[in-house]
Amino acid sequence: MISLKSNAEIKIMKEAGKIVAIAVRKAFDVMQPGITTKELDNIASEEIKNLGAQPAFLGLYGFPATACISINSEIVHGIPSEDRIVNQGDIVTIDCGAIVDGFYSDHAVSEIAGNADEDSIFLVDTTKKSLLQAIDNAKPGNRLGDISNAVETYVRPKGFELVREYVGHGIGRQLHESPQVPNIGQPSTGIELKPGLVLAIEPMLTVGSWETEKLEDDWTVVTKDGSMSCHFEHTVAVTENGPEVLTEI
Ligand code: MG
Ligand code: MG
Repeated sequence: MISLKSNAEIKIMKEAGKIVAIAVRKAFDVMQPGITTKELDNIASEEIKNLGAQPAFLGLYGFPATACISINSEIVHGIPSEDRIVNQGDIVTIDCGAIVDGFYSDHAVSEIAGNADEDSIFLVDTTKKSLLQAIDNAKPGNRLGDISNAVETYVRPKGFELVREYVGHGIGRQLHESPQVPNIGQPSTGIELKPGLVLAIEPMLTVGSWETEKLEDDWTVVTKDGSMSCHFEHTVAVTENGPEVLTEI
């Protein structure tokens, strides 16, 4: 079942979105080679609480931290650790959520630690821009497949692959609601996008194969071939006036 949100509910979700965007920004402000992923998680956690929200991921399905922090070939769901040190040139993804008055936000950003090589810059830039293409399509009159297709048609000519086993999703009173939002799809297919639909759109790109596997911790999802990956995510409301990004400062 797909739940449409009222304008008042979208306003609350925008507050949750702003808080998580500030938290992720704060963590990246101090991100540099030598820092641990646990330190980054602590910063995001404190910021969310200081701003009066609750971390959305902590304890959800048993996840043990505030943020998922995934590096290089890790695509999503990396567990922050005091033993995990960020290295020069790493692509670091901080994926985080907040809850305000029972409503969720979900947001992910990738940045490169220290000196970056050109290939990594191109991967991060392409992922970020593919999300913007998708957001442009989150408007009334379009269909879900238009969002998926926007990601796919932007990414494919650049030579990257798209993860299939993990996708975007509806979001609201639950972190994961219907519908699923794949990053591959045909235009003009799938459900019609109506005002009040709120989606977490999240392209996950890989340099090699799209196939994934889970590490022994039963959380961290990595590329099967060990190739680099990148992930961005915004929570986006479909409104009468077009797409509205909720996870912005
Ligand atoms: Mg997320
Ligand atoms: Mg998500």
